[in-house]
Amino acid sequence: MMKYSHLLLHFGELSTKGINKKAFITRFMQSLRRLGKKEFPECTITSDYAHAYIKLEENSDFSHILSFVQELPGIQRITPVVATTLSLDDMKKDSLTMVKDLSFHSFKVRVRRPNHRYPIEGLEVARQIGGYLLANLKGIHVDVHHPDLYLDVEIRENVTYLSSLSYEGAGGYPLGSGGKALMLLSGGIDSPVASYLLLKRGLKLEYIHFAAPPYTSSAVIDKLADLLTSLSSYQEKILLHVVPFTNLQLSIYEHVDEPYCITIMRRMMLRIASSFARTHHLSALATGESVGQVASQTVESMEAINAVTTLPILRPLVAVDKVEIMKMAKKIGTYEISIRPYEDCCTIFKPKKPKTKPKEKECLYYESKWDYEKEIEEIVQKMKTYELSEDGCLLLKEKKEKN
Ligand code: ATP
Ligand code: MG
Repeated sequence: MMKYSHLLLHFGELSTKGINKKAFITRFMQSLRRLGKKEFPECTITSDYAHAYIKLEENSDFSHILSFVQELPGIQRITPVVATTLSLDDMKKDSLTMVKDLSFHSFKVRVRRPNHRYPIEGLEVARQIGGYLLANLKGIHVDVHHPDLYLDVEIRENVTYLSSLSYEGAGGYPLGSGGKALMLLSGGIDSPVASYLLLKRGLKLEYIHFAAPPYTSSAVIDKLADLLTSLSSYQEKILLHVVPFTNLQLSIYEHVDEPYCITIMRRMMLRIASSFARTHHLSALATGESVGQVASQTVESMEAINAVTTLPILRPLVAVDKVEIMKMAKKIGTYEISIRPYEDCCTIFKPKKPKTKPKEKECLYYESKWDYEKEIEEIVQKMKTYELSEDGCLLLKEKKEKN
């Protein structure tokens, strides 16, 4: 197989972002360099106004690097290129080496000359390279309208880039360029996948988890640490806020009839998450909910739940079916972690028959039975914040005194 010298990454949507473009590229390059250090430390990374370049070395694992960058948000296309000299002979020989094992019948050579001082006309370069290929490969012909293969030749100041293949990138915006949201992370299969999709759209996430000690064990922190480690390629600093939810859950089960427990519990979760998000400048909430997946995930239930907050609630999995979600979870490496047995605050208090079409009026009636606001206040006081360390542990952060 051809040894390529570089991977050329074409910035996608952001190329059209006008004045923000420079900031986007800076951000993209920062995260590419940070990830590159981990994933392909031997490679040098550079950029210009429209591309990033990854210089491949003798020991580089081409397919690993390619599949890694294919997942990176902010990249439209990826082109492996061969760098050669400005000599026409070198261009011919290297072009032949590059395409000789590819299967194609017709081809066209396209030449671009950003180097305007190059003495030979583009068409002439194309003709010469084309002629050389025809003379050295059997069964191929030139087709300028619908060729099987384009051979692109780009002549720059000190180097000529040859390319003939390109791969689709993930699109989207660079990591962390799209604002901040608070993700409700359970420990199940769905919410880590939902997180991944949002990170890929360029959002920054903080995470909130509702725990019910002593009904739920502290081992859940290790599980969440592993899940968050799987997502850590897509985000630099990861914060997890843990809510001690037990007392409020017990109150719910004391005051609310069983079919409404789940809805009220979700409303409480959203109230807590929403007030936390507001005080921490996070502009949206996010969940792994998918409509119709379980009885409690209906549009009516979403209406009753949404009513407690005016923040947007992002549900990237809303119409994705479970099989597809599990496939994604396997791809990003969260599946095996998610299926480890653990006790979730929801599984412990799972009502037998949740209401599938809860009414907001009923919710308000149940909630008027006790002073839940006071309980929420106490809970918020006791919330703990962890930060994911380099080696994948969740370390408790000291609370800053508010003055
Ligand atoms: P998941 O696989 O993410 O647990 P699920 O299919 O089990 O999802 P539910 O348990 O109904 O669905 O939860 C729906 C969503 O509510 C979750 O995707 C998550 O965003 C949020 N959620 C549920 N339980 C918790 C929790 N203990 N802490 C934080 N968020 C939670
Ligand atoms: Mg769950």
